[in-house]
Amino acid sequence: MKEVSLSLPKGLNGSTAADLIRQYGSPIYYYDTATMERQYGLLKDAFAEVPLKINYACKALTNINVLRFFRSLGSGLDTVSIEEVKLGLRAGFEPSDIIFTPNGVSIEELCEAAELGVRVNIDSLGMLEQFANRMGSDYPVCIRLNPHINAGGNSKISVGHIDSKFGISIHQTRHLERLVKKLGIKVEGLHMHTGSDILDVDVFLRGAELLLEVAREYKDLRYIDFGSGFKVAYSDQDIATDVAEMGEKMTELFQSFCKEYGRMLQLEFEPGKYLVSEAGYFLCEVNAVKTTTATVFAQVNSGLNHLIRPMFYDAYHHISNLSRPEGKPRVYTVVGYICETDTFASDRLIPEIQEGDVLAFHNAGAYCYAMSNNYNSRLRPSEVWLHREKLQLIREREELSDLLARQVELEEL
Ligand SMILES: *Cc1c(COP(=O)(O)O)cnc(C)c1O
Repeated sequence: MKEVSLSLPKGLNGSTAADLIRQYGSPIYYYDTATMERQYGLLKDAFAEVPLKINYACKALTNINVLRFFRSLGSGLDTVSIEEVKLGLRAGFEPSDIIFTPNGVSIEELCEAAELGVRVNIDSLGMLEQFANRMGSDYPVCIRLNPHINAGGNSKISVGHIDSKFGISIHQTRHLERLVKKLGIKVEGLHMHTGSDILDVDVFLRGAELLLEVAREYKDLRYIDFGSGFKVAYSDQDIATDVAEMGEKMTELFQSFCKEYGRMLQLEFEPGKYLVSEAGYFLCEVNAVKTTTATVFAQVNSGLNHLIRPMFYDAYHHISNLSRPEGKPRVYTVVGYICETDTFASDRLIPEIQEGDVLAFHNAGAYCYAMSNNYNSRLRPSEVWLHREKLQLIREREELSDLLARQVELEEL
């Protein structure tokens, strides 16, 4: 583990934010590709001694330009729906560079992905049998195991626990082996993903060891995918997964496994948050500052429609006042304009806020735009990125016509 302090990227300050808002409206998502590239590089460096494949888990942020950017870095793609598979193909990924890791989808969806040539990762015994029957048992598959390791803190984002719906339980490996043998299924990969926010590298390693123990039984493996869950810092002095420490320990574990196995395999990870969380900022404006007997509310022109993580997961997002960074800190409760309780932050120290100020929410790259919606008939914001020192619009803000686009307006009622 290591402590991290938060900062704003060089190009983002009150006057650049005001310019952006003038040009593209408000609120707005802002991403910085240099940060994405830095994160990708840190992971690559930590595993320099093994054949490593990083598959960007694109559900974190699916803008097609972000997919293309990761492809340009040499990344593969981790997808969880047939739509993401198709976005990946459109972004130019080779089918073999895309892995489809869904949960609870239909056999038709799984076969459709296989027919497009992407790698499929199967997460139940029943689905494995159906898939082999449909596609033939020599269609190579990856199998998602659940080692029931809980390496993280927040139970809402952990998927490795014993009653989790994800993966085939590590306690069912005998059953799995019998099924694979009976149908002659070609298993080319094994996978685990314990969920977000690994706090303890050693606990994660324990899961990896369990997966490798199962791997001994499969002779046709090409890769082992250890999923993701790399934690990044969300607040000042927060702890993050120490990827250098993890790289060192995992490299040792993986190399000794491969030696025993008889050949070198590919080690894969599929990070989302680690690659894009810190690269994103959500900029919005303060509509009103409202003092009540209990607190001072800062009401912004957004809500759970644009950034739902604080309400959905109790996630902490650091807030900077771009308009008044040197202002005297005061305590605010930052809320949205949606007709629900949509509190971004309670009793938070923020440099003095005045109406019209621009606030920046940090860590807005992962699971923020991707989870946005049109509740209260509000429009989704635009997305811009700073790419090779150029600011570019990568998604236009929605208009009223987008809300009506798929509605069938009947002539007569
Ligand atoms: C969501 C997801 C990831 C990415 O998780 P992060 O915490 O964003 O790194 C990786 N693999 C699978 C299967 C996922 O569902």
